[in-house]
Amino acid sequence: MHFTGTVYRNPYWPTWPLLEITQGCTHNKCKFCTMYKEVPFRMSPIEWIEEDLKEIAECDPGARTIQLLSANPLVLTYDKLAPIFEMIHKYLPKMEYIYLAGRVSDLKNKTVDELKKLKDLGMREISLGVESGDDRTLDRIHKGYHAEDILEEAQRGEFDPLSEKEMLEELKLFVENLKCDCSFITHHTISGVNLSGPDFLSRKERIVAALERQISHGDLDRMEALRRNKRTL
Ligand code: SF4
Repeated sequence: MHFTGTVYRNPYWPTWPLLEITQGCTHNKCKFCTMYKEVPFRMSPIEWIEEDLKEIAECDPGARTIQLLSANPLVLTYDKLAPIFEMIHKYLPKMEYIYLAGRVSDLKNKTVDELKKLKDLGMREISLGVESGDDRTLDRIHKGYHAEDILEEAQRGEFDPLSEKEMLEELKLFVENLKCDCSFITHHTISGVNLSGPDFLSRKERIVAALERQISHGDLDRMEALRRNKRTL
């Protein structure tokens, strides 16, 4: 396998195969991050990507999930990403869930239609390193974009965010159908109550009850206002 510099495995998907399709970070200037200081950004040679896919296919031919590296592979244009996704399906025909990370600005070189086509090709999750919606904070950490860049998608009216109630209902549905024991962590303030902790199954009923209370009696307007006025995550 070809891995260049720091390899960051998303801690929430510890068992997924990793496939390096880019190296380094296009921005590489955030004050708090030293991960890719020594690695100039470039797309991995397509021969490397193919070699690595063959290797993954030998070890795990039934792989259904994969995480693409490095810092922001989402920066590649649709024309570069789509053939890579097709190659992933060629060597890993059971692939269902392609995960990759990116910067807010990486969405701008793709149309909504292209993003939908990537979804059809298996892109199920994008991790966006937003960090903050506060311009002063974004400037201080040298993030390289401002709040209005983050808002632009939503403001075009092509994306309907869930309401507070819908987010709670979605979380409740997820919890009700989660059958394995695990640590359950809601690390952003989605619920307004702290539901995090180990031994999920022994706490499942209490978590569902807490969510039901929030849905029926919670001050959802206040939660929405709190979320709207948050300056940082
Ligand atoms: S965009 Fe991400 S990877 Fe790049 S420097 Fe900033 S925090 Fe690090």
